[in-house]
Amino acid sequence: MPWLYALIGIIVGLVIGIFAGIQIRKNISEKEISSAEEEAKRIINESIKSAESKKREALVEAKEEILKARNEYEKEVKERRSDLQKQERRLQQKEETLDRKTDNIEKKEETLARRLSELEEAREAISAYKKMQRCKQCGADNQDDAVYCKKCGAKLAE
Ligand SMILES: [Zn+2]
Repeated sequence: MPWLYALIGIIVGLVIGIFAGIQIRKNISEKEISSAEEEAKRIINESIKSAESKKREALVEAKEEILKARNEYEKEVKERRSDLQKQERRLQQKEETLDRKTDNIEKKEETLARRLSELEEAREAISAYKKMQRCKQCGADNQDDAVYCKKCGAKLAE
């Protein structure tokens, strides 16, 4: 019965073919799985690396911002200090000017007082002089109430 052998041969061939196919598919899917795993590992590694580099960048940026802020603050402090010093100098100059003006006023007051007293003296001298009586003999000035001239002894007019 050759057809039976043929049938058996076909069945055996089919079975072998099916098993071989299953094996091949298994191999292929294992390869696919391992390559997918490798891809996943690669992606994870890349994201870790990029996260680290982003962290580093953020740190550098933060440091730069801190430095910038500090520089600006120091600049502002310096400017304020120099403004204050300018104002102080201006105030000092004003004070000095005021001192000088006060000195001048005091000097003027002193001069004025001296002149006033000189004027008073002159006025007194004039009024005293006006009260004098002149001797007709020698021309000397005598006190208002004198009877005889103090220089020549002549009798003064009443
Ligand atoms: Zn006289």
